[in-house]
Amino acid sequence: MAVIGFIGLGHMGGPMSANLVAAGHTVRGFDLSSAALSEARAAGVQVQPSAVEAVAGADAVITMLPGGAQLLACYRDVLGSVPAGALLIDCSTVDVADSRAAHDLAAEAGFGSLDAPVSGGTAGAAAGTLTFMVGGAEDAFRRAGQFLDPMARKVIHCGGPGHGQVTKMCNNLILGASMIAVSEAFVLGERLGLSNQALYDVASVSTGQCWALTTNCPVPDLVETSRANHDYEPGFAAALMLKDLRLAESAAEQSGADTAIGRLATELYQRFNDEGGGGYDFGAIIRSIRERSGEPAPAATEATEATGATEVTGTA
Ligand code: NAD
Repeated sequence: MAVIGFIGLGHMGGPMSANLVAAGHTVRGFDLSSAALSEARAAGVQVQPSAVEAVAGADAVITMLPGGAQLLACYRDVLGSVPAGALLIDCSTVDVADSRAAHDLAAEAGFGSLDAPVSGGTAGAAAGTLTFMVGGAEDAFRRAGQFLDPMARKVIHCGGPGHGQVTKMCNNLILGASMIAVSEAFVLGERLGLSNQALYDVASVSTGQCWALTTNCPVPDLVETSRANHDYEPGFAAALMLKDLRLAESAAEQSGADTAIGRLATELYQRFNDEGGGGYDFGAIIRSIRERSGEPAPAATEATEATGATEVTGTA
């Protein structure tokens, strides 16, 4: 088994490093937060007093940090201490330009590197079922399997340096926009007297079906896995959704892509964050939409109130 230096043991990095320990790897971890270090220690991570010490003897160095500034500072700090031949894998979500700058720093120091941001949230991190979107050279990708597989359901090579980050921001543009659309649809239905159950029963098997509806439904008590059932405790925090949408907008501006819905989704998540929603799951944006929609909804009709929709055909 390998020795892995793991830097950034927060909501995601903590459970991810625990899965590497469970797979039999030796994990040397570092975080600035003593609470994160204590939890990691309890999960079997060998916690270290600095990032430089965490990379000592490592076959791979995995970073899971808040953003590009922390990533670049970390690489500048540790690259002189990483053993020759080690593979650098950054799993944080960062700006494409910062990600490519990190690849450049790694290459200048003689290391293979990958950007490997993830989808699946804290639940996926805990269960070891994350999707990794990987950017970097083919040979580096081939070497990464033993390190990523214990944390992954899927590991997909998306292209060259930075293409993991490009994939991540495109995916989250879809996710942010679809969560807003699902929330607006529920609020509109409520305003018109439709029961949430009826809308769910139809849309979940019809062309409105999407992850924001059927896995993380913004209305409580319709989907077992939804964070709405836990008072919108994240999950995937609205602040992180805003971060990812901003990254997408910045990339759209730089590349000239016309992303009108992405711009609007960014504005709406900005507003929700400004209202104090940033610490809630991103599905909690439905509360803001509902509040802006005026008086409480009229009661649902008796036909749909108790049972939701009545199915009359088998096709959507
Ligand atoms: P987090 O804030 O819980 O964890 C980040 C950790 O990095 C913190 O514990 C912090 O103390 C530590 N840190 C910051 N600077 C450091 C440094 N210089 N050296 C060592 N440690 C340092 O955030 P998170 O939710 O775990 O997210 C981490 C990354 O994963 C982010 O880039 C985020 O966008 C991405 N992500 C998060 C989720 C999610 O659902 N939380 C999902 C997908 C991707």
